[in-house]
Amino acid sequence: MSGQVDAGDTLLSVEAALQRILTAVAVLDGEEVDTTTALGRVLAEDIVAPFDVPPFPNSAMDGYAVRAADTAGASPEHPIELRVIADVAAGATQAVIVGPGSASRIMTGAPLPPGADAVVPVEATDESWKQAERPLPERVHIFRPAAPQAHIRPAGEDIRQGETVLRTGARLRPQEIGVLAALGQPRVRVVRRPHIAILATGDELVEINAPLGPGQIHDANSYTLAALVEAAGGLPLRLGIARDFLEDVRQKLHAGLAQGADLFLSSAGVSVGAYDVVKAVLEAEGELGFWRVNMRPGKPLAFARIGGVPFLGLPGNPVSAAVAFEVFARPAILKMGGRRELTRPRVEVMLDEPVRSDGRESYLRAVVTRREGRYHAVLTGPQSSGVLTSLVRANALLVIPAGVREVPAGATLWAQMIDWPEGIF
Ligand code: AMP
Ligand code: MG
Repeated sequence: MSGQVDAGDTLLSVEAALQRILTAVAVLDGEEVDTTTALGRVLAEDIVAPFDVPPFPNSAMDGYAVRAADTAGASPEHPIELRVIADVAAGATQAVIVGPGSASRIMTGAPLPPGADAVVPVEATDESWKQAERPLPERVHIFRPAAPQAHIRPAGEDIRQGETVLRTGARLRPQEIGVLAALGQPRVRVVRRPHIAILATGDELVEINAPLGPGQIHDANSYTLAALVEAAGGLPLRLGIARDFLEDVRQKLHAGLAQGADLFLSSAGVSVGAYDVVKAVLEAEGELGFWRVNMRPGKPLAFARIGGVPFLGLPGNPVSAAVAFEVFARPAILKMGGRRELTRPRVEVMLDEPVRSDGRESYLRAVVTRREGRYHAVLTGPQSSGVLTSLVRANALLVIPAGVREVPAGATLWAQMIDWPEGIF
């Protein structure tokens, strides 16, 4: 389909466009990293426990390891006296056998000595709770009966040998890192982070540190997009600003290919203006699917391949670029990065003001707050796609479905929460 313009005059729904993009990107391969650096990464392997955690039965309390039967009928008025035959600290290795009428002092995490089948917390004895600092008593008085297995953590209580504890696709949070450490796994196989090449285009753009000349603005988009890429777990590869002529765009895209881009994102240059050169380069060099998506803001959107690498051409207006990223690029990057949950949580919100649309599926910048047990939404002010600060004030995108032009105050809509992670709902 090289050089073809697909979709013609028909508008593609947001959902259909997203599905096409997701179909065209694949989960990247895995790489091994140190577990200490794996926070936020996505597992590329199932983790099967090589042994039980904990590996041995141990005490859940500081106290005395006893035979439960010996403590039957114990009370403060009629304590039961046991002979203290040993002291087992956490990490202890020597095995004493707790026979009838005897007990071993034991610390939290220490292996349960053979013969004992319960632990009596120190608070239920006549010994001080600061027992670790006290000499080992010859005898201990027990004030409460212990049920068999009381205050004992059996081997495998947490994780059983052979169990699949963590699955491919899981995002490693601190608790998952802890599980890997408990299983003695210093290295872990995770999905490679996608390299996302970012290209700004436009003759009016200057870099962040350059003074503005007449008619010029700073390139905001490639910075917003790089930050969005990072937040989605990708590695931004900044290709800089391409001028509005074919050769510059072409060269920068080839530089991206040479640097191993897994996905291209460009901003601007994909509409029908006389200088929309990104489109022209993609038509000449790649396989271009140029879509008019039934979306506001965000139309137009280009999806292509160049050198086999998927390419998403986002609009130039800063809000449109960021919203199109949120709706199309982010799910694609998450999928490439091995994530299973690709869409942000959506909540049902009550409108505190009426909202309007032109009938396209609209993503309006909104502030969602919670009052009296429900979510409410107001817009962040003027919704012009050039007003980036409308997004600064927002914590959500209010979604007006396609075909709807007016929604009164008090009605409900869905809001896509842009600051919430996946997996909340
Ligand atoms: P275009 O898609 O080239 O027609 O651009 C649409 C609007 O977005 C114009 O006002 C551009 O100046 C603006 N724009 C394009 N690229 C950027 C950028 N990287 N940063 C900020 N604004 C941009
Ligand atoms: Mg332009």
